[in-house]
Order: sequence, then structure tokens, then C-alpha cells
Amino acid sequence: MTRQSITLIGGGLVGALMAQLLAKRGFAVEVFEKRPDPRRFGFVGGRSINLALAERGLQALRTAGLADDVMERAVMMRGRMVHPLEGASGLQRYGVDDSEVIWSVSRGALNMLLLDAAEAAGVTLHFGQSLASADFDARRIALVDENGTQRHHDASVLIGADGAGSALRAAMDEYSPIGARVESLGHGYKELEIPPRAGAERFAIEPHALHIWPRGGYMCIALPNTEGSFTVTLFLPAHGPHPSFDTLPDSSAAAAFFREDFPDLLPQIPRFAEDYDSHPVGTLSTLYLDRWHIDGRALLIGDAAHAIVPFHGQGMNCGFEDTVVLADLLAESGRDTADAFAEFQRIRQPNANAIAAMALENYIEMRDSVADPYYLAKRELGAR
Ligand code: FAD
Repeated sequence: MTRQSITLIGGGLVGALMAQLLAKRGFAVEVFEKRPDPRRFGFVGGRSINLALAERGLQALRTAGLADDVMERAVMMRGRMVHPLEGASGLQRYGVDDSEVIWSVSRGALNMLLLDAAEAAGVTLHFGQSLASADFDARRIALVDENGTQRHHDASVLIGADGAGSALRAAMDEYSPIGARVESLGHGYKELEIPPRAGAERFAIEPHALHIWPRGGYMCIALPNTEGSFTVTLFLPAHGPHPSFDTLPDSSAAAAFFREDFPDLLPQIPRFAEDYDSHPVGTLSTLYLDRWHIDGRALLIGDAAHAIVPFHGQGMNCGFEDTVVLADLLAESGRDTADAFAEFQRIRQPNANAIAAMALENYIEMRDSVADPYYLAKRELGAR
């Protein structure tokens, strides 16, 4: 019996896990990924360096048989360590004990582990192949490599896991409008690094926490990495009056701002000027779609279908949940692909909308509600 073929666009976090789960259920899976193979040429990031893995994502990894491998490379975060402008820092635990925690994982290491697992399950991976266009009537796609060389590939069933800027989504929308709406948050982010310390105590600050420096309209957060460093992310309005990325165009303006607003954090970032001047400002948006699929021919999953702002740390987790639901639906005997895709959207879209709203709310919660009363009072009085 010939195995049903599925073509996946995007071998990022969600695409790689999706591919492995489908291959394990007997599908013939090919993945086309724009970037070079990170296992041979190094991981090319673009989004956050590390991420918070929560129970929803972990459950999907358990289904794939990969949870133990991932946990070996994860750092436990027991709660939020809040650093007020004045006074002592304090840990707000996520649960009563360590049964309710989240985990910090490296995006690059996780992606590579998932690619290895997909390959081991029999998936064919093609790197340096970017989706250029899709002919949904002929069921063929065109791909280009980094030299601009084009190739065609027959794709009777397409799954787009090509992220927030999905090329498959654009092609689907052109073929038959899918009602895409992108709402920009108006805030951007920039990543900085607290390096590991020399000596036995590698972590410069508490390792088992998600650190937050809440300052009302903006904030910094930091997540631990296994080797002892922390990835710090500054979230700030993209434009407008001070402070915004407009008013902090370079490291000297930013260092003066950090001396005022993050005085305990600045000394922990010895390469502040290099990090600030060389790292780009990332943009943040929420994506809403009316339709996630074209009958049984094409479907969007992960960020390609429902990109959200990162303040609940749930984008990847939600995408991982997608993969289990979809693999189960596609593997159900007697269900055709169009029906499986429709059912997938019916099940997952309300969840995606809910987490999108919660992620937006949590930005306010993180930067305001956990902020220290002294700072908020000072802001109320117009002292800054
Ligand atoms: P992506 O990770 O974007 O992967 C898409 C893949 O498709 C990439 O490999 C890309 O190269 C490839 N691709 C793109 N275009 C093409 C093309 N034309 N042809 C072929 N391939 C293509 N989520 C969490 O759960 N926890 C967190 O703590 C968290 N923190 C975050 C922090 C920040 C600052 C940001 C921006 C996001 C965060 N997220 C977090 C969200 C998370 O990054 C995304 O939800 C997740 O990466 C989605 O995975 P994906 O595979 O759908 O998309």
C-alpha cells in the first residue's frame, strides 16, 4: 500500500515536531525549510534565543517520545523573580511546589533535536529551499534555493509551518481570501546577555526563575540558559516619547536609561554596548485568520495560523499542541483530509484566540501588576 504523502513548509519548532509525529503514524513526509541545516551550518535565529516550555508543549513532546531528551537540556523556572526599582527582589511561585513549573530551553538546541527526531522517523528534509509559490489547482509548489534556482514539487497535501510571515499563507490568501488580520502591538524587543560567571557558581542571578524587571509601560525579562548565561529581553514601545526604541537609538542613550531604570541589571550585562548596537529590534503582532485551510489541499499550523505576542510564553507550546491534534485527526481511519483540516480548525481556533487574548493581557500584568508600588506611585506623580 502506498503511504499518503504530506509536504510540510518550514522545519522550525512546529514543523519539525509535526513531521516526526506524522512519519510515526505512517505518512510519507517531506519538509522544505528555507534556512540551511542548523546541525551542519549552525542555527540562524531571528526570534528569541530561549523559550519557556510549559505543560502543554511538554505533553506534545511526551507524545513524540522526546520529553526526556528535551528536559535534559532545560532549566527549571519555579516562578517569577520580580526585581523592583527599589527594595528587595522576590520570587512569586507558579505553584505550591515543583510540580507546577515551566522550563527554559534553547530554541536552536530544541530545533536541532526535533530535526534529528524527524529524520530518525523517516522524514525527508530539504534545507535551503524556500517556498516561492503554490499552484493549488495543479497541486504543485515552486521552491527557490539561495542561488535563486527554482524547482517544482508535487504536493497533494500541504501543511504550512512557515511561521508568522508564512509564504504559504500569502499564496493561500491570493488563491482564495482567508481573512488575515495582523494587529501590531506597537512595542518591540531587543535581546541582551548576562554571561556565565567563572567558577563554581555559573549563574550570576537565581537560575531557577523567570526574572522580570517591571517598570509600568515597559520591562526587561531574563530566562536562564543551561551553560550559566541568561538571555535578557527589553520590551519597550517601538515609537513615541521617551522611553521608546525611537528615543534609544544607540547604546549610549540606552545605557543612560538603564542606569536610571534598571540599575541592578546593567552591571550584569558587560557587553551591553555591543549587544545593544548589534542586535535588531524585533516586532510583535497578533495574527488572526478566518480560515486556516483550503479544503484538503493546504492547512496552516503554529505561528503561520495564529502568531501571538510572547507574554504568556505560549506560542510554541500552542503550536506543539496543534501538532498532536492534527496528527491524530489525519491518522483517524475513515476521515478524509478535508474533513480532518476542517475539524482541526474547529478544535484549535477557539484555543488559539483565547491564548492570543491572554498573551496580550499578560503584557499589562507583567509590566504593571507585578511592578513595585514605589515605582508606580512615582510614575503617577509625574516624577519621570
Ligand atoms: P517558526 O519558529 O517561525 O518557524 C518557521 C520556520 O519556517 C523557520 O524555520 C523558517 O526558516 C521557515 N520558513 C519561513 N518561511 C519559509 C519559506 N518561504 N519556505 C520554507 N521555509 C520557511 N513561545 C513559547 O511557547 N514560549 C516562549 O517563551 C516564547 N518566547 C518568545 C519570545 C519572543 C521574543 C518571540 C518573538 C516569540 C516567543 N515565542 C514563545 C513564540 C515562538 O517563538 C513561536 O510560537 C514559535 O517559534 C512558532 O514556531 P513555528 O515553527 O510555527 O514558527
